[in-house]
Amino acid sequence: MTGPTPHSPTPARWRPSTLVRVSLGLHAGALGLLVARPSAWPWAVGAVIADHALLTAAGLTPRSALLGPNWTRLPAAAAGRRELAITIDDGPDPRITPRVLELLAERRAKATFFCIGERVQRYAQLAREMVRRGHSVENHSQRHLNHFSLLGPRSLVAEIERAQDTIGITTGQQPLFFRAPAGLRSPFLDPVLSRLGLRLASWTRRGFDTVNSRAEAVLGKLTRGLGAGDILLLHDGHAALTGKGVPVVLEVLPRLLDAVAAAELTPVTLRAALLSGAREACAS
Ligand SMILES: [Zn+2]
Repeated sequence: MTGPTPHSPTPARWRPSTLVRVSLGLHAGALGLLVARPSAWPWAVGAVIADHALLTAAGLTPRSALLGPNWTRLPAAAAGRRELAITIDDGPDPRITPRVLELLAERRAKATFFCIGERVQRYAQLAREMVRRGHSVENHSQRHLNHFSLLGPRSLVAEIERAQDTIGITTGQQPLFFRAPAGLRSPFLDPVLSRLGLRLASWTRRGFDTVNSRAEAVLGKLTRGLGAGDILLLHDGHAALTGKGVPVVLEVLPRLLDAVAAAELTPVTLRAALLSGAREACAS
């Protein structure tokens, strides 16, 4: 019997990752050493500091799975169907999102919007429109705090649960995925997500379109090695502006969708990739 996998269709009971298990053991060992041989305190303290440095490094690496399961690609079955996912973060934004929705509709493409709870409250109609058009709205925290990865467990729960409630009530669809603001996280996040039935999703490649104002460069980063199973990241909120004052995502998205079509790939939502996996598991 194997344990839960990151692509498991049903939320699994929380199991600490290997790194977290080793860290917990190391803390207990360091404490034991301090009690048994107080003079060895530099070793105990040194080991704990080194461990914390490793945990911090893992949390600062958005695509790392050292702190828990993390979707950086679609499940193999979705990749086998030549599917890929376009994820669009930090909206809704009334100046940008309506145009993004039009661009997606023109090419019959589905996308996953990682929305900020506060913005969903403010622009509820736009969030509902995303779901009405067959896209999915997923949880990107309530306020998108810069210090999100420094929050303690209780604040973390509040920040994620509020967004979960806001999005669920507004759109009628409960999020199944969570993405940390800027992808940064702490070891406290994984058990919280597990409790709320959420899966962590990062990306295969990102265009850095909140800071890079050159559409050509953003497109190049996203399409380098474009292939089945990719999860790509763009932003309809916090978007950088091109020299002509156009949000970068609006220049990149049509060309990205052309490249996706030319590669005979189908953009699907993360939710669709997850649920089709669940259906296949039931059928087999
Ligand atoms: Zn974000």
